[in-house]
Amino acid sequence: EAKKMARGSFRILDNASDSEVQSRLIVGSALRKAIQHSELLLFYQPQICVTTGKLHGVEALARWQHPVLGAVPPSRFIPIAEETGQIEAIGRWSIAEACQQLAQWDQLGIMVPVVSVNISAGHFASSELLQQIVDVLDAYNLTPDRLTIEITESVMMRQSSEALATLSAIRGIGVGLSLDDFGTGFSSLSRLSTLPLTELKIDRSFVMNFEENISSLIVTEAAITIGKRLGVRIVTEGVEDDSQEKMLRSMGCDVMQGYLFGRPMPPAALNTWIMERSLGKNGVMKENSRLK
Ligand code: C2E
Ligand code: MG
Ligand code: MG
Ligand code: MG
Repeated sequence: EAKKMARGSFRILDNASDSEVQSRLIVGSALRKAIQHSELLLFYQPQICVTTGKLHGVEALARWQHPVLGAVPPSRFIPIAEETGQIEAIGRWSIAEACQQLAQWDQLGIMVPVVSVNISAGHFASSELLQQIVDVLDAYNLTPDRLTIEITESVMMRQSSEALATLSAIRGIGVGLSLDDFGTGFSSLSRLSTLPLTELKIDRSFVMNFEENISSLIVTEAAITIGKRLGVRIVTEGVEDDSQEKMLRSMGCDVMQGYLFGRPMPPAALNTWIMERSLGKNGVMKENSRLK
């Protein structure tokens, strides 16, 4: 019976047209075990400061390595975790895991200024999120400016007043707040100005379409203008080639993230990535070496 289930889940994961209900049940219960058996990992993707070329920070991105199913992407399990009430456990875990990793980098003398962690809307409804953050920062002896919380735009815009209070409290203790996937969630501009943000993160879909679609360029330019007026940092995700990089640089983007600089990677690979970038071609340390 268990074998049948496993085989079934394979088929269902590969083919979304199969029974979604069954798929959710299987993935949902496997996910519960994944959290217990530490099958979840965090990968880290570098974020580059445009003016200095130095590492601004890293985004922590969840990965699920299932013993039978293999690598399950977050697009497959995060929505299910949200529906099956497991997203709080994942959020709690990812904040702790990311902060532990940051403390470890500190100990190794590897300079990672800030880590960004994705937190789902459901978790903001919980009154415990703030205390969880405070406790983890305290446990790893990190100042609050070392952590940024990313929340998606669509979610931030339909938040309750309690969730908004949680956001303000998190910002109030000095943790960064980033509005992820900006441009896809139909923000009301007046609402936007009331959110306690430190960062706007322009969605990958706009950068992707620069060449084919003039409106993507216009939206990105407008988003950057709005961000500057709000006094927040502008981050773009999904930067894959030089022409996108050049364009974003000329538009005044502050921080870039994308395959051009580095993919999401395990902590050890990021160590290597950082060391290789800080060394010149002949192994000589370069002041201000441009990270490209
Ligand atoms: P996101 O937060 O917008 O993360 C950016 C996504 O874009 C990541 O996908 C990243 O791997 C991908 N990406 C970055 N640069 C490039 C690029 O140059 N080209 C392309 N094609 N893709 C790029 P990933 O890791 O599959 O994560 C997908 C989404 O899943 C994330 O989108 C986030 O919304 C969610 N997610 C991931 N980890 C977590 C987590 O721990 N908790 C929660 N609640 N959500 C998470
Ligand atoms: Mg994100
Ligand atoms: Mg994003
Ligand atoms: Mg995105």
